[in-house]
Amino acid sequence: MGMERYDGCKQGVLSASLWLSGHGYFGSPRGTGGNVSVRVGGEDAMAITPSGARYQDLTASDICIVGLDLGLIEATGAHKPSVESGMHGIIYRNRPDVNAVVHTHQPYGSVLAVLGMPIPALFDEAAFSLGRSVEVVHYAPPGSLELVENVGRKLQNNANAYLMENHGVLVLGEDLEQTLFHAELLEKTARIYCLALSTGREVRTLPGPVAEMVQAHRDREVREAGNRRKEKA
Ligand SMILES: [Zn+2]
Repeated sequence: MGMERYDGCKQGVLSASLWLSGHGYFGSPRGTGGNVSVRVGGEDAMAITPSGARYQDLTASDICIVGLDLGLIEATGAHKPSVESGMHGIIYRNRPDVNAVVHTHQPYGSVLAVLGMPIPALFDEAAFSLGRSVEVVHYAPPGSLELVENVGRKLQNNANAYLMENHGVLVLGEDLEQTLFHAELLEKTARIYCLALSTGREVRTLPGPVAEMVQAHRDREVREAGNRRKEKA
């Protein structure tokens, strides 16, 4: 019990945060614009980055442990949990397939977030991983209950990525490694989509039947994860 219990989760969140920061996903080299969490196995809890700290200065002990109902479980560092904890909590409560969540300010994803343009199914790999459509979550101030509710309403499409209007992106996955890959895939797809749109020519999307297969795949993944979670409980 105590500190050691959460060490693996804290280390994972720290490593993922440093990788994202180092690769420009938080908007600028010194940017603190983003947050990372992972579900704590066997508990209704998550490990999440603290609020307003520079990632380069963080240690594993600064990562906070928070209940999915947002009750503070453990904060051994000097910082409070991320102000976006509510957004992470509602995802874990509603999506049994999700064990890691990343919110970033990555450049090309953010371009589409300020345009308010969803990303349609463009490539097989990206679509099967991210979802049939990367939808836009309507704007609400960071940390607000309204933003949590706006995110909650979008989760039912079973996608693994969302654009946050005039803010950034939200990426989900079954573990931290997969979630980082999804953030990369989203950035690659958003970059290609922006470049394609800039030509002014028509952008081809995947054929309808493939898009249907993508949706069926995502729905099945979420349903099966839900069944596994029920069996364990
Ligand atoms: Zn943000």
